[in-house]
Amino acid sequence: MQPFVIIALVLIIARAVTELWLTRLNRFHVRAHRTEVPPPLRGVMDESTYRRSVDYTLAKSRFGNVVNVFDAVVLIAVLFSGLLPWGFGKFNANFGSSIWATAGFLFVVGIALSIPGLAFAWYAQFRIEQRFGFNTTIIKMWIVDRLKGLLLAVLLGYPLLVLVLKLIEWAGASWWLWAAGVVVAFQLLLLLIAPAIIMPLFNKFTPLPQGALRERLFALAQRKRFPTRSIEVMDGSKRSRHSNAFFTGFGRFRKIVLFDTLIAQLTELEVESVLAHEIGHYKKRHVIKMLGVSIGGIVMAFAAIAWLARQQWLYHTFGFEYQPGFDAPNVVPAILLFALLAGTITFWILPLIHIWSRHFEYEADAFAAATMGETQSLIQALRKLSEKNLSNLIPHPLYSSFYYSHPTLLERERALRVAG
Ligand SMILES: [Zn+2]
Repeated sequence: MQPFVIIALVLIIARAVTELWLTRLNRFHVRAHRTEVPPPLRGVMDESTYRRSVDYTLAKSRFGNVVNVFDAVVLIAVLFSGLLPWGFGKFNANFGSSIWATAGFLFVVGIALSIPGLAFAWYAQFRIEQRFGFNTTIIKMWIVDRLKGLLLAVLLGYPLLVLVLKLIEWAGASWWLWAAGVVVAFQLLLLLIAPAIIMPLFNKFTPLPQGALRERLFALAQRKRFPTRSIEVMDGSKRSRHSNAFFTGFGRFRKIVLFDTLIAQLTELEVESVLAHEIGHYKKRHVIKMLGVSIGGIVMAFAAIAWLARQQWLYHTFGFEYQPGFDAPNVVPAILLFALLAGTITFWILPLIHIWSRHFEYEADAFAAATMGETQSLIQALRKLSEKNLSNLIPHPLYSSFYYSHPTLLERERALRVAG
């Protein structure tokens, strides 16, 4: 076997095996504590809710194992069967090697690879989420959602792909820097237009009705100098009983969005503390820092693709023809290989990314506590949310380091008590 075949196989299998192992650790950990509510929450959470959160965690982890193994098998099959070079050759023969056709090939491969995921997404929504009482989506809406997603990909993703490939011919050796610039600009544009154009395609947003809650939240935003054009309620309940809150848009276009489920589950004071936490993310500059890191990630991704596109041996390993020079068909195999294999490497930096994002959560919690002048309302809100969402209260520490962007309820409570 050629060295890169072995490296690719090791990367894929190491990731899959590690994921299975982490899940196994987590299942044992959760099972070992299944009979009693964790001490800090005794008297707060009842036994039956806790038991259900354990069952929900175990059901999701069994399903996650199936998805992991399936993904690894498909990835190996797609990479080593010669399917991609064969398809690329067929596509070229039928549609030519124009930029539009080449981008079309990438697009079609992307769609084809996402099809098995649809079956899994269906199962997660209509079997697991349904069983635990979270699902409120009807199948027709679920299908329409997917079609809307596909339409957006065709209208936005495909032209972007064409532009990136055009840059290879226009800019020569420095194409990848230009391409990274274009993708970053596109992302920023998306952030600007999403609240006005894309999100309303999926949900209805209505202004929070006049009343005590609205006054309370606007007063908080004003007190914290958080310019807000509107506070809106999103009909999240039409898909799921899970709840959330976030803000979108920039500057004076900013709006705060609360899920209707969140308003139904929390008291006014608790909603205020959740908003204070969200404002904390903004005031502590988390949003801009995250954006900076994502821009860095995009530049690194294109640098990696440009490097891969110069590795003749790599092309031959996976059955592609190699022609030196800067035109789109020569770079397409590098883009494909990157898209398929990048996840096997980025998986290993997840714990680092999560240390960072959890640090942000603690900062936002501390900000909320300082803003509210007390910690109790945020603690109550977090307790209710993790109860309603059946969150796993005691993940295995190694498991949570890979998969949890937020600290657990108990970790947040502990930090809040120290702050308070
Ligand atoms: Zn947060």
